[in-house]
Amino acid sequence: MKSKSFVAAGVVAALAGLVVLPSAGAAGYAGYVPKTLTGPATGTSIASPARNTVYFCPRVIQGITFPTTLTNPTNPWVFGTTVNIADSEDVAVPGSVKMKHVFSIRKTATTRFLKGNGIPNHAMGEFPIPSNSAAYSYYAALPAQGYANAAEIPIKPYDMSLTVPRNPVVQSKPSCILSLAVGIASQTGAAWHAEIAVSADFKAVSPSAALPYDRCWGHPYAEQYHYHGYSWKCFPNQGKKGEPSPLFGYAADGFGVYGPYSEGKPGSAVTGATQKPITNAQLDVCHGHYGWINWDGKLRYMYHYHTNNEYPYMIGCLRGKVGKMSMAMMHLGH
Ligand SMILES: [Zn+2]
Ligand SMILES: [Zn+2]
Repeated sequence: MKSKSFVAAGVVAALAGLVVLPSAGAAGYAGYVPKTLTGPATGTSIASPARNTVYFCPRVIQGITFPTTLTNPTNPWVFGTTVNIADSEDVAVPGSVKMKHVFSIRKTATTRFLKGNGIPNHAMGEFPIPSNSAAYSYYAALPAQGYANAAEIPIKPYDMSLTVPRNPVVQSKPSCILSLAVGIASQTGAAWHAEIAVSADFKAVSPSAALPYDRCWGHPYAEQYHYHGYSWKCFPNQGKKGEPSPLFGYAADGFGVYGPYSEGKPGSAVTGATQKPITNAQLDVCHGHYGWINWDGKLRYMYHYHTNNEYPYMIGCLRGKVGKMSMAMMHLGH
């Protein structure tokens, strides 16, 4: 902490005015605890911006054109388009592994610079996945570059950085998702990845329907730990009961990602959370909207994203200009 502009993530959350430090008032309050996630049906297009899907940039991977629609996989925790959280967690990747965590956010007048080693401030599951665990077979069925299969992928620290405007601007058209990494959870210092994965038979699938995760809904891809689905359960600051969810992190375009309890109606102050999670019907095609939020300690009416339990769970496309980042790009795998 040589520079005063370098502050720890927890301090940033407090400065953002969202009432509590992760270690203090948040204790015991779990925020929104869903029982299910609603996933995409087979045939859902990913080729244009729309609610309840992702807008994924067209691409050719290893000579194969990436599918433009999603396929809903068959797994014991998937019932139609419903992902049962308890059933998924029944086959979660076991273990509780802590690794050295490095993360900081630096701000200038115009820029926000998030940097770390990609390792979260909480314990992760055991990767490579123990071969005697229930999770193993789901990963072992998937190919992985450089490994015998996806169950063999370890977690390693990496150079995770994201440089974004401190006050991002909404572009005239939403951008498709090009990189796998779509943001950084500043409460924990780990990345969010797009809610899309490739199955063994080269179908595009929702990762939460295709694979079990560790207890924080995370796993590695290309050795980089990241989140999907209901990962916010492990974010230390869920806010306070009856209040809007706090900032969970930043999207790749610099806009904030907030929890499932939205602020009040547009035009009103940050009060009046209904304690009903926000639904996709209340959000735009990128899984965000305008509202009054605390932004760097000031109340501002601006665009932001929300997490919830309806696919794509956090970001469907990007409203702002994507910043400079050093994180995972898409190739074969999850
Ligand atoms: Zn909101
Ligand atoms: Zn993943």
